Amino acid sequence: MPAASWLIVVWLSVIGAAIGSFINVVVWRVPRGKSLLEPPSHCPKCGHPIRCYDNVPIFGWVLLGGRCRDCRARISPRYPLVEAACFTSFLVLAILECGLQGVNLPVHREPGDEGIVLIVGRSGRELYGIFLFHQLLWCTLLAGGLIEYDGNRAGWRVYAPALGMAALAGSALPMLYPVPVWNGVEGWYAGMATSAAGLAAGTALGWLLSRWEPPARRNGVWLGLACVGGILGWQAVVGLAALTALWQLAAAVAGRRRVPASLALVVLCFAWLVAWANLVEWMPWLR
Ligand SMILES: [Zn+2]
Repeated sequence: MPAASWLIVVWLSVIGAAIGSFINVVVWRVPRGKSLLEPPSHCPKCGHPIRCYDNVPIFGWVLLGGRCRDCRARISPRYPLVEAACFTSFLVLAILECGLQGVNLPVHREPGDEGIVLIVGRSGRELYGIFLFHQLLWCTLLAGGLIEYDGNRAGWRVYAPALGMAALAGSALPMLYPVPVWNGVEGWYAGMATSAAGLAAGTALGWLLSRWEPPARRNGVWLGLACVGGILGWQAVVGLAALTALWQLAAAVAGRRRVPASLALVVLCFAWLVAWANLVEWMPWLR
């Protein structure tokens, strides 16, 4: 990977940590019906605004020893952990999808003349688009999963931007889908069919999985799988719904169902994105 690519990767990862900081705000404020913009971040104990130099993702918490600068109240280590998770997710996916030209993505094939199948490379702009599309999905899943982990209901508003982009991308940016709705589909409707089939499959299987969750935790896995379908396609929905069900089955057998299905989906979806090309080689029906 050239030095310029590394520079972009590091820059994207720092943006990722800042987005993690924003997700912390979303997880706390959205279930309480508070504005995301006003007031600026403040200590929940003493109400003092957090100084901008203390608000640096991860480092702010570490340098303050996990305490408020004004009243010394403990600040949960979850804040820097979420920021670190986002930093890592952006780092790994930016290396794979942007720096290494999408080695994790299924190979893009197009039917050529006389039965020859062409393997088509992706442009840099397409790869950055795919990376942002995938991070929109992953960050949405993370926000919804954490809201449900805290015992709150994940409203549709959390998922609306990802669902809206998924619905739009099918017609406007079909190159964001590495896997078509079925092999060899062509024409102006191909992207739309990919996005629509994914949204439909995610809504159906997500609803099915949500029946196995306590009522307060049903939205996350339902809307989350709808987002997975709209952004990664129906094949990923089938795979990730099965893996999430297995996760919850194992948790039930162990007698520990503390983690909502929506948060399990965050971990599984990241693994899916990293291993996608290998999964397709292993199970060709995912293509
Ligand atoms: Zn304080």
